[in-house]
Amino acid sequence: SGVRVSVLGLGAMGSALAGALLKAGYPTTCWNRSPGKADGLVARGAEAAGTAGDAVRAGQVVIACLLDHASVHEVLDPLAGELAGRTLVNVTTTSPEQSRELADWAARAGITYLDGGIMAVPHMIGGPGASVLYSGSADAFHQYRPLLDLWGTSTYLGEDAGLAPLYDLALLAAMYVMFAGFLHGAAMVAPAGVTASAFAALAAPWLTAMTGGFEGFGAVVDGGDYTVEGQQSLHFSSLDDILAASSGQGVSTEVVDMVQRLIQRQIDAGHGDEGFARIIESIRHPA
Ligand code: NDP
Repeated sequence: SGVRVSVLGLGAMGSALAGALLKAGYPTTCWNRSPGKADGLVARGAEAAGTAGDAVRAGQVVIACLLDHASVHEVLDPLAGELAGRTLVNVTTTSPEQSRELADWAARAGITYLDGGIMAVPHMIGGPGASVLYSGSADAFHQYRPLLDLWGTSTYLGEDAGLAPLYDLALLAAMYVMFAGFLHGAAMVAPAGVTASAFAALAAPWLTAMTGGFEGFGAVVDGGDYTVEGQQSLHFSSLDDILAASSGQGVSTEVVDMVQRLIQRQIDAGHGDEGFARIIESIRHPA
């Protein structure tokens, strides 16, 4: 492709992103604050820029993969004039508010802004499991989609630049709670002499199979009727046996208590006969 790309920030992730561009033959200019990090990429055909400004001038598309929101401003604020008319793809991790702030800053400077949330670790970039979420300029997403697709599966979420980090954090929230649930189970069986590895071998296919339930929950939540037939009711979902067995094993009940409290608030409000998906109402309306 003839699209000239510049990558600012050659840490673990920026180097992986630049490597994928070079592999696909994109003319790529690289810049890093500390010298030396471009050497490996230059050996693979990249141009090294001496300053961030040189890198920006060399690229139609400028990828920023820096540490955080503050480092993006530190590097790009003095270059707003140079960036005008170009496309900035910021894959630095930022909060939804910070992404919106950067999008507003870019709009004021005449810079086309696309925010990216990378759902992968560096060695996954360009491989099958990698996914990158985008929000901001739809035109930029569509125009540069072939380039973005080099890194992983690209998903565009909407014009609000804050959407990519919001989805990113929502997916991480689901992941952490699932991991905590797995570790709770491992702690429960440990006193019985079961290794965490042995438990992992059973838990992974079990939880994978259970993710098949998300679609049904989604349909019930979106339909807004938690009385739909065929659901497991909140009364039936009582976690008392799990809590008792956890205590019996001498382990903390905190992880399971959290779910039980969400259930109990709906039962207390008179919804015990309705489906498990109803606990989203406890989450939507903080106690
Ligand atoms: P690294 O710590 O490996 O690299 C950080 C990069 O940011 C370096 O190039 C560093 O330059 C640069 N940097 C830091 N502060 C400044 C500054 N003030 N001015 C200029 N450059 C600066 O991090 P990663 O490459 O792993 O991560 C980069 C971004 O990608 C982060 O926002 C991270 O959250 C995100 N990300 C990373 C993932 C991962 O698994 N690694 C996964 C998903 C997202 P220098 O070499 O000079 O220090």
